Amino acid sequence: MRDVRIKKKVEKILRKYRAKANVTVEDGIVFIKGTVTSWRKYVEIGKETGRIKGVKGVVNDLEYPGKEKKRKKRGEERVIGKADVVIIGGGVVGCAIARELSKYKLNVILVEKSDDVGGGGATKANNALVHTGIGEKMGTLKQKLCVEGHKMFRKIAEELDVPYEECGMWIVISEDSIAYRLPRILKKFLASYIIPFIILRRAKKLGIEMYKVSKKELLKREPYVTEKAIAAVFSPSYAMTCPFRYTIALAENAMENGVKIMLNTEVVDITVENGNVGKVITTKGAIETKFVINAAGLYADEIASLAGAREYTIHPKKGATLIFDKETRKFLNHSMTLLRLPRIEHYKGGGIMLTVDGNVQWGPTIDEIEDKEDTSVTAEEIERIFKTYEPLMPKFPKKAVIAYFSGIRAASFTEDFIIRAAKKVKGFIHVAGIQSPGLAASPAIAKMVASILQQEGLKMELKKDFNPIRKAPPIPREMDMAERKKLVERDGRYGRIVCRCEEVTEGEIVDAIHSKIPACSIDAIKRRTRAGMGRCQGSFCLPYVAKILARELNIPLEKVKKGGDGSELFIGKAKCLLEEKNES
Ligand SMILES: Cc1cc2nc3c(=O)[nH]c(=O)nc-3n(C[C@H](O)[C@H](O)[C@H](O)COP(=O)(O)OP(=O)(O)OC[C@H]3O[C@@H](n4cnc5c(N)ncnc54)[C@H](O)[C@@H]3O)c2cc1C
Repeated sequence: MRDVRIKKKVEKILRKYRAKANVTVEDGIVFIKGTVTSWRKYVEIGKETGRIKGVKGVVNDLEYPGKEKKRKKRGEERVIGKADVVIIGGGVVGCAIARELSKYKLNVILVEKSDDVGGGGATKANNALVHTGIGEKMGTLKQKLCVEGHKMFRKIAEELDVPYEECGMWIVISEDSIAYRLPRILKKFLASYIIPFIILRRAKKLGIEMYKVSKKELLKREPYVTEKAIAAVFSPSYAMTCPFRYTIALAENAMENGVKIMLNTEVVDITVENGNVGKVITTKGAIETKFVINAAGLYADEIASLAGAREYTIHPKKGATLIFDKETRKFLNHSMTLLRLPRIEHYKGGGIMLTVDGNVQWGPTIDEIEDKEDTSVTAEEIERIFKTYEPLMPKFPKKAVIAYFSGIRAASFTEDFIIRAAKKVKGFIHVAGIQSPGLAASPAIAKMVASILQQEGLKMELKKDFNPIRKAPPIPREMDMAERKKLVERDGRYGRIVCRCEEVTEGEIVDAIHSKIPACSIDAIKRRTRAGMGRCQGSFCLPYVAKILARELNIPLEKVKKGGDGSELFIGKAKCLLEEKNES
């Protein structure tokens, strides 16, 4: 009955967009096949379908002019390993799952197609906030897991020796907050009483500590906030972390507890025998297994398709962010966002936010895009960020931007996390649609996946010797002088500064290169040490970092990469080129 009702509603949507398409609905999963005249219509149909009550997934196979055709890659059929569980994807979610599963007597292999954990997807380009869950839609899985993840985060960060700071977050309600056409007095009443009341009631329900402050109190605590503020609600436990260091630490700790991590290993096929997962075929060979965790981010739909377990389509949504010089840290004491009504659907609103490293960030934007790899940042997006957040802090020195980046959210059309056993393929577990707050929710996602595996029949016995503690390598800039002196006496390389902006030493870079998950590119070193993340963005230190990489990896400089394949930075020695020219 439910499927029939859903089908009728989807057909109505298809008529509205004049799509030539067929719909089938199976157990709440909608499959749409056919054609539309534009990519925009393809997205809108998917979104409207995802909003229908009872829909558990939208597989949107509509064709539109210019749609890219995917070609299947070839893998290596030779069996190279056997595992109880194979995790596909070494982003924060895959690594959190790997660590959670390393608590059990299991043989676990994580495969990641890029050259680093946290280096291939959204994990390397987010805002690093450990959200409390207050910004999520009530009753969603993502809200539940965010609330739980936030509560678990402090302990995990301590165990893994990674930064975690409860910086607090203001939700500022100003004269600019309410876009509805209402009398000014009514807007002011809503902003002063009704909106804070609704937020606080919600917070109470979720067990999140929050309180309201007046404009006077807000301006006393945040002197640079807009004078147009009417009131604000404060969340003291809103936190921030370092997504790179956290993900690397999760992976290292998982390895210490027995998980095998295979980098530069792309999954290209999955065999299914009698309805059960059989083998995961990668570019390096096949792994026999009975359980596959699909944590492949933007490509989760394509991975599910390889196993014949497609229950959703991922549609990429870009988010661009601006990073400001550390000098601007003095303009705010806590992170902040400007409440806006009407609310943008499935979007927490972004804001002006602190980072654990002392920079300030503005953003992110939210834009549907067609290409899953489009991480460009356009002048228009930069302008839009300024326009969106300037009303929150008009006197902030906007010229102090030192960098910008964008990350791609792996959104499902139902807009919630999809974490469940596949309906038709035994042993295949979906961990898909993990857009924000995937970082904050990651510890809770990992726990949920472990319990699904148990329900699906995997024998899970806790290890007695699981070691939750992982020690980070030394960071001289975070030490006092006495500690630093001792370290330099032990190894002089900790006294040689390579990145002047971020005070990163040669010792730290060498540690990163020889760590459990070796940093083999400039970007991997940047993520671990911050070399190149400062004011000059690597203009000074890049050649030095490259030289250290070449020396430690024993490779010629021309082989040093910025990031993945094909990103070599040097083509030879300048004088050699001149010599060649003279010869010709
Ligand atoms: C702009 C922006 C801001 C955000 N801000 C926040 C925030 O402040 N707080 C928060 O909680 N969340 C935030 N998020 C969300 C968060 O970053 C994501 O939810 C999280 O990183 C998702 O992690 P993941 O492991 O699922 O995906 P990813 O990090 O994308 O990892 C998936 C991995 O799978 C690998 N992979 C793909 N295909 C294959 C294959 N065939 N074989 C092998 N490996 C494969 C990829 O290389 C990739 O490394 C933000 C996201 C964006 C884009």
